[in-house]
Amino acid sequence: MPAKKAKTVKKKTAKNAVKYSYDFGDKTDGSVKLRELLGGKGANLAEMARIGLPVPPGFTLTTEVCTYFYANGRQYPKSLEAEVKASVATIEKQLGKKLGAEKNPLLLSVRSGARESMPGMMDTILNLGLNDKTVKALASESGNEAFAYDCYRRFIQMYGDVVMGVQARSENEHCPFEETLEKLRKEAGVKLDNELTAENLKELIKRYKAVIKKRTGTSFPQDAYEQLWGSVGAVFKSWQNERAILYRQKYGIPAEWGTAVNVQAMVFGNMGETCATGVAFTRDPANGEQVFYGEYLINAQGEDVVAGIRNANPIAKLAEEMPAAHAELVEVCKKLEKHFKDMQDFEFTIEDNKLYMLQTRNGKRTGLAAVRIAVEMNKQKFIDQKTALKKIPADSISSLLVAVFDPAAEKKAKVLATGLPAGPGAASGKICFTAEKAEAVANKGGHAILCRVETTPEDLRGMIAADGILTSRGGVSSHAALLARQMNKVCVCGASDIVINYGAGTLKVGKTVLQEGDDISINGTTGAIYAGSVETAPSEVNQVLNGKLKAKDSYTYKMYDQVMKWADKHRKLGVRTNADTPGQSAAAVAYGAEGIGLCRTEHMFFEGDRITYMRQMILATDEKERRKALKKLLPFQRKDFTGLFKAMGGRPVTVRLLDPPLHEFLPHDESSKRELANSLGVDIEVISNRVHALHEANPMLGHRGCRLGISYPEITEMQAQAIFEAAAACYKLKKPIKVIPEVMIPLVGFADELKNQVDVVHRVAAEVMEKKKVKFKYLVGTMIEVPRGALTADEIAETAEFFSFGTNDLTQTGLGMSRDDAGSFLGKYKELDIMPQNPFASIDAKGVGQLVEIGVKKGRKTNTNIKLGICGEHGGDPASIKFFHNVGLDYVSCSPPRVPVARLAAAQAAIG
Ligand code: PEP
Ligand code: MG
Repeated sequence: MPAKKAKTVKKKTAKNAVKYSYDFGDKTDGSVKLRELLGGKGANLAEMARIGLPVPPGFTLTTEVCTYFYANGRQYPKSLEAEVKASVATIEKQLGKKLGAEKNPLLLSVRSGARESMPGMMDTILNLGLNDKTVKALASESGNEAFAYDCYRRFIQMYGDVVMGVQARSENEHCPFEETLEKLRKEAGVKLDNELTAENLKELIKRYKAVIKKRTGTSFPQDAYEQLWGSVGAVFKSWQNERAILYRQKYGIPAEWGTAVNVQAMVFGNMGETCATGVAFTRDPANGEQVFYGEYLINAQGEDVVAGIRNANPIAKLAEEMPAAHAELVEVCKKLEKHFKDMQDFEFTIEDNKLYMLQTRNGKRTGLAAVRIAVEMNKQKFIDQKTALKKIPADSISSLLVAVFDPAAEKKAKVLATGLPAGPGAASGKICFTAEKAEAVANKGGHAILCRVETTPEDLRGMIAADGILTSRGGVSSHAALLARQMNKVCVCGASDIVINYGAGTLKVGKTVLQEGDDISINGTTGAIYAGSVETAPSEVNQVLNGKLKAKDSYTYKMYDQVMKWADKHRKLGVRTNADTPGQSAAAVAYGAEGIGLCRTEHMFFEGDRITYMRQMILATDEKERRKALKKLLPFQRKDFTGLFKAMGGRPVTVRLLDPPLHEFLPHDESSKRELANSLGVDIEVISNRVHALHEANPMLGHRGCRLGISYPEITEMQAQAIFEAAAACYKLKKPIKVIPEVMIPLVGFADELKNQVDVVHRVAAEVMEKKKVKFKYLVGTMIEVPRGALTADEIAETAEFFSFGTNDLTQTGLGMSRDDAGSFLGKYKELDIMPQNPFASIDAKGVGQLVEIGVKKGRKTNTNIKLGICGEHGGDPASIKFFHNVGLDYVSCSPPRVPVARLAAAQAAIG
């Protein structure tokens, strides 16, 4: 989501004042075009009213009211009160009801509605307008006294909690309303709320009011307008509650956007057996299949479905229970998709067999569903190819590549229970009952499965940290399911056979008892839950790519392939990969990589004996010793490069010369020092002294990059020799591979640094070609990863044949923030909105981006043919890819699994 600044559309009223309240109903002021001003919910309610869908009348207070509210010490614009009165009067006129009247009282709902939906993050008030008098009118008009008093007690509970702040004061305390309710249920000898009689409910209301009075010192307000302003204020305030802030941070929603507030006439799904309420999708949000999908409850309020308190019925059952309403809903689905040209997620209520639409929005969906919906909507000619590409969040393509359980292992595993498949993929990990625990496990590099009875927005942190989410309650539209889909997490919900006991720290199914910390596995595609950990297997796409499955047998692969073909047709950016081994390279090629943009040669020395030779080389005190170690490293390098060149089959391969920040390679602990001492036949003290002498205060800014090759040209010589000999060997194969190696010098800030190293590379190239009697083309270029390199790119481009922007170091040096240590303060920066995105993950376009732009411009000024790429981590980040497209780079390079994401993101950037 782009962090754009709010661009509000101001509508002027006749008196030339800003209009703050937009009506919808018989007369509708807004439309879907005013999303920034009316929020997603408000704009779509207006749009539904416009296309003739049955929407209860109401009005939307704009996001500008929210902005004003926060900019003016939580005051409203002066004209708002009159506008609200007029809007309420408009509803009253349409329905023949009156707010606060003792006959035909108008009841309202007050809900938030930001530009991007933030499910469950802000507050809602229902049944507003009820008081000691109007409740009597509702009772007689509905002919259902228990219903009326239940509405009233719900309203008091919501209002008391949200507006008057009557809540649990600590983790150990229960919600005072819930506690009161439970006590009364016990006294009345009933189990369920809906078994309470009108008399019970009247008593409950009395007790609720007493709770409020005791806790706040004030009474629950009887005046309907006071209730309305209290509710509106609470919803605006909830824009800044902790979970809304956290959600905005995660999804990059700017605080300045603000929320709109929707006030709408209540309709009741809980007035009796001819009433119902539900949440539905025009297609299956988990797998994208075109089926009418959702759930409903007879005789319930909307929140009951979303909160997952009662297990709802699948929507198909509505065809039996209320066939007319079901048929009408099927038509609504068609109308909605045709109009909004996207899968819709909508809420409806049936009051006395009459259908009302309460909300519609583009439905959240899994990555898999996003791909399927886009591909199939294109096939159905709803949307063209470019629109289809734009509708797939680039990151979601990676969910087609996620692991599934190894079929054989899964078959053998005993199914513990089954829940609703709500987020596809396979996840195994430790049972964690709290968000804190899941975070702790994940922080230690472990895998966590967050297991909750039901999730609430407070669990967000845990959901982010966990690999998978399991709930024993709640349906496919429950909070857990919704967020899991959005976060692309594996999720199984509503597994009602599971009994989670937080107090005892157990998860029980029948006689099986698992403890917190035990392994559990969940299949978010089928809903199956297994005790213990089950081996995972590659996704269908990977199986096809590895030749284990035929393309024609996998619908998922066909969709993936279709999207990738479309992407390749539209993108301008090349996509390469960062790979150091033939295995990684082959995987990347299968994902569509067009070359290697970065081979970090120091990574080739982590394995086996190699690290010892590498350390010998680094610790050498003179050239002779160093050359001795380098001689041992040469054959490894040559073999590795030959492997890479072969795996890439003639595609370009950029090999970067050694760039080891020394501390990563020095032996630190006693045993590795001893091992090295033994291998060199010296005393451990010699090693300790040398390590001490090489110690750097800032190794990231120390003796690394080209500085190393300049100090010790024999290192560059060895590496160049290995690269060129490997290339020569490829040319001499029976089936020659025409490699054009690209030798890359790291950390260059001065043109003369590059010249120094390029001289060595050219000399060695000539020597190898002479010796091997083969001639081939090669390029020598540099990384641009320190600000001076970018600023003097015109001088550097005199020698360089290509630049690759090293945005990891460029961010580190440009921002003056250690890439290894920034984690300790970036959280706070994010929280305070100083830097909403981690600049090491998504490019800081304003600052570091400027350095890239300067580098591009200056580099091309001197050398119009210079090839320009980027190989920092940002090469796999969709927002950064857009930036790189816009500044005119030739290619991005990213890790192998990000290659499909980068291909799609590059196409989206090109489409604009
Ligand atoms: C970079 O700095 O962006 C880069 C790709 O190099 P490394 O991460 O190896 O420092
Ligand atoms: Mg670097």
